[in-house]
Amino acid sequence: MLKLLNKYAEKLVAHGLCSPGEPLVGGVNDAVIWNRPDPRAAELEKIIAALNINSIVCARPAEPFFSILNEHCHRSGAEFVPEDTETRTFLHSIPVARSMTAAEIVPLLQKRKGCVVEGHGVVAFGTVSPEQAFVVFSSIIFSAFVKFFVDYAYSQYAGTPDLVVAAMLPEVLAAYDTFLPAAARVDLERGVFSEEDAIFRAMAHAGQATVDARMVDSFFGNISYFAGDTVYISQTGSSLDELAGCIDACPLDNSASTGITASSELVAHRDIYLEGGNRAILHGHPKFSVIMSMLCFEPACENRGKCHIKCDRERYVEDIPVIPGEVGTGPRGLSSTLPPAVLGRRGAIVYGHGVFTVGTKDFRDAFANLSKIETLCRESYMRIISGPAPG
Ligand SMILES: [Zn+2]
Ligand SMILES: [Zn+2]
Repeated sequence: MLKLLNKYAEKLVAHGLCSPGEPLVGGVNDAVIWNRPDPRAAELEKIIAALNINSIVCARPAEPFFSILNEHCHRSGAEFVPEDTETRTFLHSIPVARSMTAAEIVPLLQKRKGCVVEGHGVVAFGTVSPEQAFVVFSSIIFSAFVKFFVDYAYSQYAGTPDLVVAAMLPEVLAAYDTFLPAAARVDLERGVFSEEDAIFRAMAHAGQATVDARMVDSFFGNISYFAGDTVYISQTGSSLDELAGCIDACPLDNSASTGITASSELVAHRDIYLEGGNRAILHGHPKFSVIMSMLCFEPACENRGKCHIKCDRERYVEDIPVIPGEVGTGPRGLSSTLPPAVLGRRGAIVYGHGVFTVGTKDFRDAFANLSKIETLCRESYMRIISGPAPG
């Protein structure tokens, strides 16, 4: 258990979400054990006992995330509700505690998998493994970040720019630049690949590079490669930085049953390959792409208020289409919308969710496309907030 606690404490630091030495991770193994001593442990053990859970993470996030969380706390009541897909489907809402006490936190965690504690950071738990607590922790930070920038752009659009956020922005953006890794040259394998070993290696490297570039929280996203008559795809719930043993080979004729563990987005990936021209697909959740997907400045948009889910008019960020991508196979389901959207393009952005990019030979172009689309979206966002109100 201690090994596992240390693994996730180290992962929070490695992903830039916390400063070294900060994360406090506890797990139940007969008694509760901790990755390090901390005065908050006693209060957290009361929470573990009351909820009958397996593990807990308590940590102050690194900047700019800590300031962003506290700002949400200042302006919300019992909870705040981001509208990105990750939160809607996974967290629903993010409750706020005002003190690091079991009395206040236990009732919140009876309803939700994690909460923000004003001035302290995030408390999140797992019922079977500390990995769950880690995933909740990073999801809360992701959603809070996206909401911060979406709300600000809309405040400006409404002609009433949020002056508190405006004053915070230079520091927040500078800290975010520090969070992003320096533009290291990523050496991904050159394709085309036909051997399974080469395919697995290329997928594992591309997954790791996407996490390292902070363009996805490791637990989300997916990746695939097409060779022969087989789609090689990451399993549902696999971590993109731990793909070894988590890649399924799914023959196009569906002769194997691996489609069950394969990513839920297998059908969308398969149909992209069936259209021809592509061999690699990469899916991540780069933050400014998600933010841009949720912003609609169409004055006459009939879906105003729902533009993070759909707009009645097609939207683009430059040449990149923003498309609906609901779960399931309906007309607005990802498997219907994504394949035509990426046909002849670098990729597409799904409302409130993330980016899918394609590569014709290997992951070098798919990765470069993901990175370029995120840069494009951040530049577009900065133009929007620094110019006169659009529309
Ligand atoms: Zn996703
Ligand atoms: Zn709209």
